[in-house]
Amino acid sequence: MSTGTGQRTAAWDERYAGAVMDTFGTPQLVLVSGHGSHVVDADGNEYLDLLGGIAVNLLGQAHPAVVHAVSGQVATLGHVSNFFATPPQVRLAEHLLQVVEPGGAPQGSRVFLANSGTEANECALKIVRAHANAGDAPRPRILALEHAFHGRSTGALALTWKAKYRDPFAPLIPGVEFVPANDVAAPDAAMGPDVAGVFVEPVQGEAGVLDLDDDFLVAARDLTTQHGALLVVDEVQSGLGRTGEWMAHHRSGIVPDVVTVAKGLGGGMPIAACIGLGGSGSVLGPGMHGTTFGGNPVCAAAANAVLDTLESDGLLAHSALLGASWRDDLKALGIPGLREVRGRGLLIGLEFDDAIAPGIVRAGRAAGFVLNATSPTTLRLAPPLVLTVDEAATFTDALPGLVLTARTQEGPVS
Ligand SMILES: *Cc1c(COP(=O)(O)O)cnc(C)c1O
Repeated sequence: MSTGTGQRTAAWDERYAGAVMDTFGTPQLVLVSGHGSHVVDADGNEYLDLLGGIAVNLLGQAHPAVVHAVSGQVATLGHVSNFFATPPQVRLAEHLLQVVEPGGAPQGSRVFLANSGTEANECALKIVRAHANAGDAPRPRILALEHAFHGRSTGALALTWKAKYRDPFAPLIPGVEFVPANDVAAPDAAMGPDVAGVFVEPVQGEAGVLDLDDDFLVAARDLTTQHGALLVVDEVQSGLGRTGEWMAHHRSGIVPDVVTVAKGLGGGMPIAACIGLGGSGSVLGPGMHGTTFGGNPVCAAAANAVLDTLESDGLLAHSALLGASWRDDLKALGIPGLREVRGRGLLIGLEFDDAIAPGIVRAGRAAGFVLNATSPTTLRLAPPLVLTVDEAATFTDALPGLVLTARTQEGPVS
């Protein structure tokens, strides 16, 4: 249980404000340790972490498999650059090709290892452009979806929907157009021989956990194939068991041209991948792309441990089952104004009629929960996949009280 901001936290907050660039606002907590799905702040208060480092910590904090892999690798070979290969890097690329297409990745599929989601998408963007530029006719246009989030570097930012994120940095790369999600007619109308690629997230996490219909993904696949454009599926948040499957797009049965993964991959270590399927695996040749750290052996060893543990501990099935029963339990609370409980696996969105999500986050913090609001009306839960049934139930039990506190603080519901 939290007892509120203590002296140690206040001292760190002051030093933070004096030294760290103010891009995230005042930190909600100063965290010093963690175990499993729990984190501990500078004053010793413990929290159940239902944000998981923003959908990152698939195995929670200090998981023995990750600790062992990282400490063993850093004591053996820490970094060599991409002028050299390392066993963890090669194993990881092979393993990713297996999980992205469990039936067998198409001939020619290859992986580029990067450090973050936005970099994985930059790589995808370069594949899309280079593929288009190698063709006969100009393809200046790229389609992305309304409410999309693909990252903060300027290429990925151009594909990101929120004008607030993009406008201060204009002009960004030209040619990007946003079409509505889940409206099959929209990409159909926007598509043409001048489109180089289409970017989609199978579940839009930053937008508040908005699921793409399988029909829409299938239509996007058909249209891109028909027009010779590439289909990029951004699984940075939704991939690697988060939604109960290796990849959220698996449910639709489509095979994309490019898939990007990041957040959960390293169990908290920064590593990402851009997976080119079939011909997209060889669009980038020598000298066309690079990275100093990408695929670093320590991060790759962590990622191998994560993929192995997801398999050995049955965490995909756990994510699917716990997610489904948790959503049912949350709905069954019958909280007035809780309009919708949505999502897949352990990526869950709670949509309220009134703007109480930030108030619930605050009330949750005081009650010992780390929560996240993606909008004034939307809560997102993206806990570690090692979350137990009992831990999930503590939040279910607490939620009606948190909602009440939030509504009391914010005044009457309009
Ligand atoms: C978080 C996220 C990104 C960006 O990842 P970073 O590691 O923050 O660069 C890109 N796409 C999606 C879908 C994400 O959720």
